[in-house]
Amino acid sequence: MKAVRYTEHGDESVLRYSDVTDPEPGPADVLVAIAAASVNRLDLIQRAGPGLLPGYALPHIPGMDIAGTIVAVGADVDDARVGERVVLNPAIACGRCLWCERGGDDLCTSMMVVGASGDGGYAERCVVPATHALEIPDSVDFAEAATWPTAYSTAWHALFASGELRLGETVVIHGASSGVSSAAIQLAARAGATVIATARGEEKLDWAAKLGAHLTINSQRADIATAVREATDGRGADLVIDHVGPALFDASLRSLRPRGRLVFFGTTTGARVEMSLPSVYRTGLRLIGSENYSGAEYAAMIAHLSSASLPSIIDRELPLDAAGEAHRLLARGEVLGKLVLRP
Ligand SMILES: [Zn+2]
Repeated sequence: MKAVRYTEHGDESVLRYSDVTDPEPGPADVLVAIAAASVNRLDLIQRAGPGLLPGYALPHIPGMDIAGTIVAVGADVDDARVGERVVLNPAIACGRCLWCERGGDDLCTSMMVVGASGDGGYAERCVVPATHALEIPDSVDFAEAATWPTAYSTAWHALFASGELRLGETVVIHGASSGVSSAAIQLAARAGATVIATARGEEKLDWAAKLGAHLTINSQRADIATAVREATDGRGADLVIDHVGPALFDASLRSLRPRGRLVFFGTTTGARVEMSLPSVYRTGLRLIGSENYSGAEYAAMIAHLSSASLPSIIDRELPLDAAGEAHRLLARGEVLGKLVLRP
């Protein structure tokens, strides 16, 4: 089959569109003919090297977000699944560690991630356990479904599981044009929250407003915390969702109401922050790291998205052999939402 693979770390030029051996399904697996795969920042980070996820090795086929059709099944899987339209759950828990045995598959210490620790979706076909191929209705386009796995599950978990967002609350979402923030803006607005989106530049703020943000703040022009206080009659936000990191960490803390929650994940601007401890404990702020989702939570999200008819967050679709161009666009920050590759 054709795939985009790299055998050494480097810039986009290491991505090679070439012939590779077809994957073979094991007894509990399905073989999926990939119709669409979306691009994530982690694909770029690992391509530049070194790889971050346990089990990652060269050569590597990236791509965590995959939608397509089941074309063959392993010996232990029901033949009736051939022909099923599916989106994949890329996070495969080991099933054997302390946390998996207790049912906490989201806390698995040996998590394998399709397209990040093993080979993934920049290809014509891939293999996953049958349990990780979730059916989608005919009404959902493959390209749309391929935007769901990473962006929506990260947003979903951060907002609802980690952030416990409730109807009527105000949530600040940074980095509004990114895939995960685009998803978060839609999901939070649909959940009855007032959404304040921040981004650098008017084009990105227009995008956020189209997705449902009630108020937007240009972080190049305004002090975010001041603007959030003005928008909330001096009260502050109930929840901040941040994957930007150090650049906005202080602004996030200053934007919160007493006992407000800061949910964070991702390290776009670095991995270390400095903070004043009294400024956090005196007002009872909650700092909440947002971890992986569970398989059950993911299935519930796919069921919700399958019927929610949310507006598309696809910036553009590109042929698989243009994966290098996709990486260039994402690296330059020229993407609104998600890029999708079509094999
Ligand atoms: Zn485990």
